[in-house]
Amino acid sequence: MEKRRTIIEPFKIKVVEPLTVLSRDQRAPLLRAAGHNLFKIAAEHVTFDFLTDSGTTAMSASQWAAMMVADESYAGSRSFHKFERVVQQLTGYQHVIPTHQGRAAERLLCGSLLKPGMKVPSNNHFDTTRANIEFMGAEAVDLVIAEGLDPKSSHPFKGNIDIPRLRAFCSAHAKEIPFGMITITNNTGGGQPVSLRNIREASAVYREHGIPFIIDACRFAENSYFIKLREETERGRPVQEIAREIFSLASGCMMSAKKDGLVNIGGFIALHDAQWVESLRSLLILTEGFPTYGGLAARDLEALAVGLEEVLDERYLEYRLAVTRYLAERLNALGIPTVQPPGGHALYIDAKAFLPHIPPQHFPGQALACELYLAEGVRSCEIGSAMFGKRGADGSFIPAPMELVRLAFPRRVYTQSHFDYLVEGMEELVSRKDSLVGLQMAHEPPFLRHFTARFEPLP
Ligand SMILES: *Cc1c(COP(=O)(O)O)cnc(C)c1O
Repeated sequence: MEKRRTIIEPFKIKVVEPLTVLSRDQRAPLLRAAGHNLFKIAAEHVTFDFLTDSGTTAMSASQWAAMMVADESYAGSRSFHKFERVVQQLTGYQHVIPTHQGRAAERLLCGSLLKPGMKVPSNNHFDTTRANIEFMGAEAVDLVIAEGLDPKSSHPFKGNIDIPRLRAFCSAHAKEIPFGMITITNNTGGGQPVSLRNIREASAVYREHGIPFIIDACRFAENSYFIKLREETERGRPVQEIAREIFSLASGCMMSAKKDGLVNIGGFIALHDAQWVESLRSLLILTEGFPTYGGLAARDLEALAVGLEEVLDERYLEYRLAVTRYLAERLNALGIPTVQPPGGHALYIDAKAFLPHIPPQHFPGQALACELYLAEGVRSCEIGSAMFGKRGADGSFIPAPMELVRLAFPRRVYTQSHFDYLVEGMEELVSRKDSLVGLQMAHEPPFLRHFTARFEPLP
């Protein structure tokens, strides 16, 4: 096919849902009533919902068709065996345990393998993974490379784990590490990929120390395509083969299928050998369900079996990674700074750099997120001092290390004209950015405060 500059959405649309477009005057009272907290805005009042890429995918006609032929038998469902075969072929792992979503897989694995004092290294643990590890009294240890913490670094694989630190850590603590991990792509680190070379090296370190290696595979397809695009030695290799090699380097994986499974709910654990399977299945029966459905309806397993194959279509992946890249380039050209390079599933606006007149204690990220809602109907997520700020013993304010606004993109949901429309509005926003004002927290809940906190604009 001739090479064009425009990367098109590689699908045509069969089912549509109207997009709500409200005016600024209509949104303003809704935002006030929500206490300037976007988690409390009704979805029907949002035009572009970039809160998360989790479970927000549009399913294909083939997925919907597969759901109709699902076998809802309690035990030994045909749909389970189809799903199991797809996972086995994709990963090469023999044992497949379905769960209702990613954190259920984490809870099973952590619940059956961790004891107080144990340690689990990774590049960056996702927050539910960390919480499940810590809930068992164990320690979640992040060993991402230094470039992964620098928003300005344009290292092609900022999700890489620091191999010398991993080796030193494993040498010092091998006996306390029941398994080691790597998250692909590195969600906590901004959806940044891990190179195949880094996964090979991490695998070798874990093997040398006799430590099983579990991949958090939520975005394995996006990561595999980044490898194909950015890793010299892997250019031109089919993405399916890259994914297959990644899985072959580990002892197993766990996955939230709400990301690269292209479904709205689902997850699984897959393992190479049988050693842990019995205890995992016992826990599964206790809290999720029988081993051939694990907390899901058979129709969910059918949709997932199809999604896991569709996600490796290279035209889909080319389009998928073009979304963040396209929007980043357009916003950067307007003078809106974003974390570099753009990741796979999300774009992060650096609100501290964009709104230098609003100090961290007045939540520049939250102020920008609110303005994006008022001006554009965009729902984004602040990842800064509203989420992670703390108070010292004397009540003084301790800011988060960065003030970011995350735009996470649902898969196959929005089109290029949606993004062009947005960019047009952003141009206008840039011209009056100095008039944006900060916020103060009017109600501060003790835990996970970003979900329920209330804010007020400064007078
Ligand atoms: C979403 C996510 C999880 C947790 O999965 P849920 O389906 O939300 O429970 C774990 N790890 C990573 C990297 C994720 O992105």
